[in-house]
Amino acid sequence: MKKIPHFINGQHYEGRSSRYADGFNPATGEISSSVPLASSEDVALAVAAARDAFPAWSETPALKRARILFNFKALLDQHQDELAELITREHGKVFSDAKGEVMRGIEIVEFACGIPQLLKGQYSDQIGGGIDNWSMRQPLGVVAGVTPFNFPMMVPCWMFPVAIACGNTFVLKPSERDPSASLRLAELLTEAGLPAGVFNVVHGDKQAVDALIAHPDVEALSFVGSTPIAEYIYSEGTKRGKRVQALGGAKNHLVVMPDADLDQVTDALMGAAYGSAGERCMAISVAVVVGDVADKVVERLIPRVKTLIVKDGMQSDAEMGPLVTAQHRNKVLGYIEDGIASGADLIVDGRGLKVPGNEKGFFLGGTLFDNVRATMNIYREEIFGPVLCIVRVPDFASAVALINAHEFGNGVACFTSDGGVARAFARQIKVGMVGINVPIPVPMAWHSFGGWKRSLFGDHHAYGEEGIRFYSRYKSVMQRWPDSIAKGAEFTMPVAK
Ligand code: NAD
Repeated sequence: MKKIPHFINGQHYEGRSSRYADGFNPATGEISSSVPLASSEDVALAVAAARDAFPAWSETPALKRARILFNFKALLDQHQDELAELITREHGKVFSDAKGEVMRGIEIVEFACGIPQLLKGQYSDQIGGGIDNWSMRQPLGVVAGVTPFNFPMMVPCWMFPVAIACGNTFVLKPSERDPSASLRLAELLTEAGLPAGVFNVVHGDKQAVDALIAHPDVEALSFVGSTPIAEYIYSEGTKRGKRVQALGGAKNHLVVMPDADLDQVTDALMGAAYGSAGERCMAISVAVVVGDVADKVVERLIPRVKTLIVKDGMQSDAEMGPLVTAQHRNKVLGYIEDGIASGADLIVDGRGLKVPGNEKGFFLGGTLFDNVRATMNIYREEIFGPVLCIVRVPDFASAVALINAHEFGNGVACFTSDGGVARAFARQIKVGMVGINVPIPVPMAWHSFGGWKRSLFGDHHAYGEEGIRFYSRYKSVMQRWPDSIAKGAEFTMPVAK
């Protein structure tokens, strides 16, 4: 069985803790690795390595930092398939989807390679007699990232490439359920020429996260995961004066207007609801069907959901793999039972699916509920599985009101052929990322990712220019030289003359 090490100060490190978690291959249900759960001493070692590396790294010219990221990007290109396979074997998503995740991670590295331009400040010449004023952005110090299981490469890449490009040093605490991708990223960064201590990985659970929150040398925390933990990390981190961005859970709606192309809608719902077995923070889990087209949408969806190809994600024809753990599958099964009990119509039941040869895998078939109402738990809560709920509403205004009343506001989509409706939707909807005829509107690397309401705690979205702001501090400098000092002390607020 594979033993997964931490990565501290440029080296693998076994850790001093006696606590371990089992890592699984979700397609076979077998234990495939042993993951160390860091103690606070292990975390302190990682933070100390990052703190010691900070002075030299932050003084390294941005162009030289960028060159290391260019090397890293080239290595990521070479190792795409290897990284994708690590993801599929621990997470369960299909290999082609894992490759897409790797690519979206690489795109953030490409963005971070432009750091000399992105960190450029502003300059005002002669703001008063012989005085100039300029601004610049400087790194924070040691920053930490805590990431979820569902994107073991892409989500860490939302954080560390931007953070280290800005001159910070980093401690990553990835999900203990699929830790191998982040370890490989650390090894490739070292091969790319990153000095020891600039990027460290500690595996662990709440104990490791609490140690990062409590550590006085950690200046900022980026978190992505479920809402209760996001809220906890935001409040505990900010209480200690740290800068925190904490991205939480979601319930993403796709509005189907009566004038939408229903074949496109069906394809969009299939991919967005069942891709990655619904374990995406941008998965569509609710179709809000407006007016009289609901029966037509349901008619199209039923045969497609029933014939989804569900199997080990390493098989090339797989459309959907297993859920990440048996425990998580049980949670999703609980929601299906809850939906039936609350009176929703279960029109495709994914329970009881058997995958020949993989009987012990954590599989669940695609599941479809109709006539779901806003009061039901399956509507209100995040299921994070291959379960799509259909809510029928009479008109556009009801669709907007329904979505705006939901506690989450991560992603949303509207399918229509009417530009006026599309424009009104984009302006009125209280959600951070909006797709018009695009089901999963994950912003590109040079924009920024983040939800509204209880899908994000903090002021900054992830990556893009928001990421640069989060990982740097603004400084304004005003300067004059003795030969331009014309007079003595001034006791009034200086103004330009
Ligand atoms: P999770 O909240 O259980 O875990 C996320 C991280 O927090 C992991 O590293 C985990 O070890 C750590 N953690 C778990 N319990 C903790 C505790 N009590 N105290 C401190 N740290 C703790 O989330 P998950 O199950 O790994 O991921 C799925 C969730 O992440 C979903 O809710 C999904 O919507 C969300 N997510 C959100 C986004 C986004 O951008 N908004 C992106 C991806 C995933």
